[in-house]
Amino acid sequence: MQKTAHIIGAGISGLSAAVRLANAGYRVHVHEATQQIGGRCRSYFDSATNLTIDNGNHLLLSGNSHALAYARSIGTEDGLVGPKQAQFPFADISTGQRWLLDLGEGKLPLWVFDEARRVPDTSLRDYLALAPLVWAGTGKLVGDTIPCKGTLYDRLVQPLLLAALNVDPPEGSAGLAGAIVRETLLAGGQACRPLIARDGLSAVLVDPAIKLLQDKGGSIQLGHELRKFVTAGDAVKELQFGTDTIALGPEDVVVLAVPPRGAAALLPGLKTPTKFRAIVNAHFRYDPPRDAVPILGVVGGLVEWLFAFPQRLSVTISNGDRLVDMPREELALAIWRDVCKAAGLPGEPELPPWQIVRERRATFEATPEQNALRPGAVTSSRNLFLAGDWTDTGLPATIEGSVRSGDRAADLVLARR
Ligand SMILES: Cc1cc2nc3c(=O)[nH]c(=O)nc-3n(C[C@H](O)[C@H](O)[C@H](O)COP(=O)(O)OP(=O)(O)OC[C@H]3O[C@@H](n4cnc5c(N)ncnc54)[C@H](O)[C@@H]3O)c2cc1C
Repeated sequence: MQKTAHIIGAGISGLSAAVRLANAGYRVHVHEATQQIGGRCRSYFDSATNLTIDNGNHLLLSGNSHALAYARSIGTEDGLVGPKQAQFPFADISTGQRWLLDLGEGKLPLWVFDEARRVPDTSLRDYLALAPLVWAGTGKLVGDTIPCKGTLYDRLVQPLLLAALNVDPPEGSAGLAGAIVRETLLAGGQACRPLIARDGLSAVLVDPAIKLLQDKGGSIQLGHELRKFVTAGDAVKELQFGTDTIALGPEDVVVLAVPPRGAAALLPGLKTPTKFRAIVNAHFRYDPPRDAVPILGVVGGLVEWLFAFPQRLSVTISNGDRLVDMPREELALAIWRDVCKAAGLPGEPELPPWQIVRERRATFEATPEQNALRPGAVTSSRNLFLAGDWTDTGLPATIEGSVRSGDRAADLVLARR
């Protein structure tokens, strides 16, 4: 008889577990509380800009091996697109200075030895000072591990770690920052090519996964919130939803892939992160200038990354708690002014149709204190496993971490056989 897996939560963590289990022969049923699939990584039609937009601009890197393998497994690896080389144009909008960080194509960070390819006004010694981050423990602060000031910090380390950790880097976990540095900068340009979901997050990372599951006889139920686990002995016996219950057979398994607060409510006593940080995205309906680069790093202003999409300029601001209560119009205008400078728009055009998306709990707080609260995938029930970007993946809350957590939960299920 075909074994059954129930996946609770249709974010990237749940979907990656679902796809892996479906490909291994399980009949997979996904249960999602809301009416949307994709969780914190999804597209939707926005009437203010009259465009389909993503809830947030998601940047992947070519070294995100689990995320890329997931896209490959659902047939959409080609939908993750970026420049052929690991090149990052940057603009400092406070001084007008622009530079190109060219990490090359190799497997080693040899670019640091080439003055022409280093961040302007930095020396080899500045890069060597980052070495302690590579082997730092998770209990240490970034600020106690490397110098958090100076030109290299302002122009490269701060933007990279802020984007990855979603906290002000000095307060972040050095262990998590070290994992990022090991898997990106230290792995050379071949691991650092920036990639974005060309046709939108849902089209590339979400909808094809659902199709694969359905083609294999699985299902997805929306508006199907899990309210309670009923356990007997060392196993979950029943899943209680608002309106119905599902009894589990002896071989059935469950992967709980919901955010930490929901997981803690369903599993009293579970240790989870309790603090979160916001990410702010602003989308402007405006045709990018012909020479606009797809992704521009911006320093010296409010904006951190500027993305050029067809008909749209779009902005990401991490660690955005300071902006969540700012009046929307005021925020849109402030961001638009930065966009005009960064994109070099002539004469600061009037504010075009815009949308601001403020995800208040975008990621768990990547501090040593919160990182210590992340549980593994195994629970006290032998047929229940945890997934989620907030579980102990060794990475900050990212797509790569989410897929790793989903893969790990699925592998634990498969190892039971
Ligand atoms: C604005 C923004 C920008 C980001 N940018 C990047 C980036 O550039 N690069 C990157 O790698 N990562 C980025 N991230 C992080 C990335 O989006 C997340 O790490 C990832 O999407 C988390 O997936 P998840 O499946 O673990 O959780 P979620 O996406 O939160 O999925 C959990 C799902 O469970 C559902 N659920 C909750 N409770 C229940 C219940 N009781 N029953 C059934 N379902 C339930 C929820 O509705 C949700 O759909 C960004 C995040 C945000 C918000």
